[in-house]
Parts: sequence; structure tokens; C-alpha cells
Amino acid sequence: MANIQGGVFNEIACNNPQTPMPVTELNPAQTRAMLQQVAERIIEAEAVLSEADRQLGDGDHGIGMKRGMEAVLKELSELDETATVGELFGSMGMAMISSMGGASGIVFGSMFRVGAKALKDSPEAFTSDGLVTLLQQANETIMKRGGAKPGDKTMLDALAPAQNAARLSSDKPVSEALENAAIAAETGRDDSCAMIATMGRAKTLGEKSIGHPDAGACSVAIILRTMADCAAKN
Ligand SMILES: [Mg+2]
Repeated sequence: MANIQGGVFNEIACNNPQTPMPVTELNPAQTRAMLQQVAERIIEAEAVLSEADRQLGDGDHGIGMKRGMEAVLKELSELDETATVGELFGSMGMAMISSMGGASGIVFGSMFRVGAKALKDSPEAFTSDGLVTLLQQANETIMKRGGAKPGDKTMLDALAPAQNAARLSSDKPVSEALENAAIAAETGRDDSCAMIATMGRAKTLGEKSIGHPDAGACSVAIILRTMADCAAKN
């Protein structure tokens, strides 16, 4: 019989959202592995993200996110083993802000950076409650920094529904809350296709922006989908 403990099997398991056993919470090592996987998936998606941005903007979203996530991988690999759940998210956010630059760096970095505060009450476990607080603060911070609201065809159109879904799953194991948040983010990304852009470069396209998803919403969907799939395999 083939050895199923190898890397290929783990890779497949990580991609399988149907894993039946719920995972109540993640410890710091599991959280770190999940965030590393997020960075790797975003790097792999560079071309897809840049193409999405090319339809509506200047086509640099994938490159910026890739640069940020390469800095994240470096930061996470150098971070001490005693790093708490909040410190892991916070360091990830800081690495993105300092390496990506521009609006994207600030809004996407903030999405993780808020984790440093949001998750400080539970340093050794990433739970559904932590996820809810993280997504809530991420939404608030990004609305404040970016000046957008849901419906403007931005990353918030994936992030806001994800926050709602997580909130409704706050009494569930973290793997289920993440799965529900990921589904909501993917639906939100798809829903952004029908929206007219009112922010940034895409605004000038007006109704021509209909039919394409927002690139930032695509990134949010990938981030939450990867977190859900990785949480479920623990
Ligand atoms: Mg761009």
C-alpha cells in the first residue's frame, strides 16, 4: 500500500473542505502553518489576481500581494517559537504594510495587523471568538482607512459577508466558523461582479466595471478559503 503520510497527501488534505472532524481551536504552531499556507496560496495566485486587477485597474494587485506574502514567509520563519496567536497575525500584517507600500499594503496589512490586539485575550488558541473579533476589527479599520463601504466593489464585499458569517458561527468550532466565513467571502467575491465600482481607478469605468470581480475581494476569498481548508485538516 502506498505511503499516505507524504507531502502530496497533506497537500490534498489541505485542499479538502469536507474533512468531517471539526477542529475547536488552533494552537500557535497550527496558526503559523495556516498563515504560511495563506502566503503560499496568494503567491501562487499572482497571475490570477493581476488579471482580475487588469480588468478594472492597473493590473498590479497580484505583484503587490506576492511581494507582501514573500515578506510574510520570511517574517514567520524568523519569528520565535513562543510567538502567540495574536503576534503571528500582527507580524504578518506588519510585514505586508512595510513591504507592499501603497493603499493595498495598508488595507491588506491592516486586515492581519488588527489580529495583534483582537487576539490578545487568547494568546495560545485561535478560536471562533477570535476570528469574529479579528474580522470585525479588520472591517472597521479598512472602512476607516480606505473610505469604502460594502457595495463599492472592493475587498469589503468579501470581508463584510465573511464577518457576518463568522459572527453567526461564533459558537461553532473554529474550522466551521472559518468554512462559513470562506463560503461567504467567495459568494461576496462573485457578487462583486454585478457591482459598479465607486472607488479608485475602477471608478472611471462606471458601468463597464460590471461583469468582473474586484481583485481585492478575490484575495480576501483566497485568504479565507486557505485558512478554512488548513484549519479543517488539523
Ligand atoms: Mg492595482
